[in-house]
Amino acid sequence: MTQLNQLQELMRTLRFVETSNHLAELIKQAEKNDHSYTKFLFDIMQYEQKSREEKQFEKRLKWATFPDYKTLEAFDIKEQQSLSKKQLNQLGDLTWIDQLYNLVLLGPPGVGKTHLAIGLGIKAIYEGYKVIFTSMGDLVHALKTEEITRKSKTRLNRMRDADLIIIDDLMFMAMDQQEANLFFHLINDLHDRSSIVLTSNKAPKEWGELLGDPAITTAILDRIVHRVEIIHLNGDSYRMKHRKNIFGQESVTN
Ligand code: ADP
Ligand code: MG
Repeated sequence: MTQLNQLQELMRTLRFVETSNHLAELIKQAEKNDHSYTKFLFDIMQYEQKSREEKQFEKRLKWATFPDYKTLEAFDIKEQQSLSKKQLNQLGDLTWIDQLYNLVLLGPPGVGKTHLAIGLGIKAIYEGYKVIFTSMGDLVHALKTEEITRKSKTRLNRMRDADLIIIDDLMFMAMDQQEANLFFHLINDLHDRSSIVLTSNKAPKEWGELLGDPAITTAILDRIVHRVEIIHLNGDSYRMKHRKNIFGQESVTN
């Protein structure tokens, strides 16, 4: 076994896995550039740290289960008159996550609620936060099957451990009493520990009807609005404005 192979094995034992896989290149580079021992060691450490961060990011991105990859950069503020550039930047700086603020994004279909929520979620993952995205339907399913399937249990555990939970299309579906109860308990667990982003095309005062039980609705709302920023997005549906016609051209209709 060559010394390089021995070194790689040693590095794997010490869990410098990423660096061990690229050690030959790293050594070659240092030799070519005549780097000092200090610089070489520094580069090695930095390489491992960067690789680990990238892996963490990939893992968190996978766990988050975003339905699409939509970034804040791709969110065109000129298309969304109800939000200023300054507000968007404030949301994007993510201090509200540290302050355990919730966000409620309201507005009719197609105005960019889900896009904005995903964009904030992806940014948060980049900054090292743990994020989970879920539709209301999937969430209720997971809650009802938590004791039955390992998949649901794992998913809910990740949610309880996350810094940010995005619940998309809240109240899209009517819930029965058991579902509303399970939902309340989850919100109660998350309250004061993580930020929640909710999107909905219904105003909070209408949520009660869909949850069925006014007492549970009040209890849920209390926890959500304790620290909340409510953002009304409006305007025309971006989808409708930018719909493609059959000739493949965008027809911008206002
Ligand atoms: P909502 O969740 O409010 O129904 P979406 O976020 O799903 O709307 O937006 C519908 C489509 O329009 C998505 O493809 C989204 O990326 C796009 N979209 C909406 N608003 C904007 C915007 N301001 N800038 C860029 N794309 C947008
Ligand atoms: Mg949506």
